[in-house]
Amino acid sequence: MMRLPPFSYRPARSVAEAIALLAEHGLDAMPVSAGTDLYANMKQRLFTPKVLVGLRPIRELRFIDFDEGRGLEIGALSTLTDIARNDAIRAKYPALAEAAGAVSTPQLRNMGTIGGNVCVDTRCNYYNQNLDWRKALGYCMKKDGDICRVAPSSPKCVAVNSSDTAPVLIAFGASARIDGPSGVTTVPFADFYRDDGIRAWAIRPGEIITRIHVPKPAPGTRSAYLKLRLRNSFDFPIVGVAAMVATDDRGLCRDARVVVNAVGSRPVVVDGAAKALIGTHLEASALDEAAEAAFAAAKPLDNTSATIPYRKRMVRVYARRALERIAS
Ligand SMILES: Cc1cc2nc3c(=O)[nH]c(=O)nc-3n(C[C@H](O)[C@H](O)[C@H](O)COP(=O)(O)OP(=O)(O)OC[C@H]3O[C@@H](n4cnc5c(N)ncnc54)[C@H](O)[C@@H]3O)c2cc1C
Ligand code: SF4
Repeated sequence: MMRLPPFSYRPARSVAEAIALLAEHGLDAMPVSAGTDLYANMKQRLFTPKVLVGLRPIRELRFIDFDEGRGLEIGALSTLTDIARNDAIRAKYPALAEAAGAVSTPQLRNMGTIGGNVCVDTRCNYYNQNLDWRKALGYCMKKDGDICRVAPSSPKCVAVNSSDTAPVLIAFGASARIDGPSGVTTVPFADFYRDDGIRAWAIRPGEIITRIHVPKPAPGTRSAYLKLRLRNSFDFPIVGVAAMVATDDRGLCRDARVVVNAVGSRPVVVDGAAKALIGTHLEASALDEAAEAAFAAAKPLDNTSATIPYRKRMVRVYARRALERIAS
């Protein structure tokens, strides 16, 4: 049985207390929400923080509020089940409900939070292993080593972003409110993720995400999220496709976004897909062209389940299916 390393748990009862505790313990501390990602990684000794600052007692960060004028506000401690079951989200942002409902298992969705989901650690077959496994093979750049075992000549880690909600939030133009010692900032999710498997998020030590804002959808907006995984009841995505399309009352596409995840260190916004769709009536040839653009933009590497050619081909298939669902 894998055991957690020793640490002390400091529950925070307000955002201000969380920030003060994180500042007090500096790089020895990490925030934890439900711990469904972090505790598993700690058991593998991928993280060994001396102090965990618990965010769960901050009750005011568990809320979902939709307003026709302002759009959607989600507190960072809302669970994935809260999001998947929320009536306003299911009606106005169905792809977000689908993505939250496709994370892992019911037990993990009942605990796991949206704040933790958007910060879920990047993944790789050479990294998500226990300490003995990694020691026997030789460590890698993301933890304790100095080379990348997937791409030995790469100067950076290419571990994959495996968050289900991240591509959907980007497709909807959502942003994160980040609270920290130097105040509050708002970062669009399109700028939140970096193409670096180690420094993968635009968030600094001592900062936490407190809420997520999703703009009001334009009239005629439809969306879908489709996910490929090895075991449908359980696994992280090996391909995730979020699609959002807005049409006018004649069915003409006015806006479109296709975002692919789990094929790189950050979600990939497929500009070519938007170009292929905008100005069309979402006819089959436009969907084909958009799916082809997603295929071309996806550059999976050999660091997660299934082969590179299969995952790349499935990006085309899943993009086509997501758009087909929207068009029909
Ligand atoms: C078996 C298994 C299967 C899984 N499958 C999936 C899957 O299919 N799809 C998927 O997306 N995820 C999956 N996960 C990962 C995880 O369960 C979810 O992503 C969950 O939403 C994480 O939320 P949490 O509250 O538990 O985060 P935590 O584990 O508490 O935190 C995760 C990371 O985010 C940081 N963090 C937490 N909250 C905040 C905050 N408010 N601000 C800043 N940083 C914060 C933590 O420091 C940590 O680094 C899986 C996990 C397991 C164990
Ligand atoms: S991509 Fe390379 S550096 Fe990153 S976790 Fe995998 S082997 Fe390690």
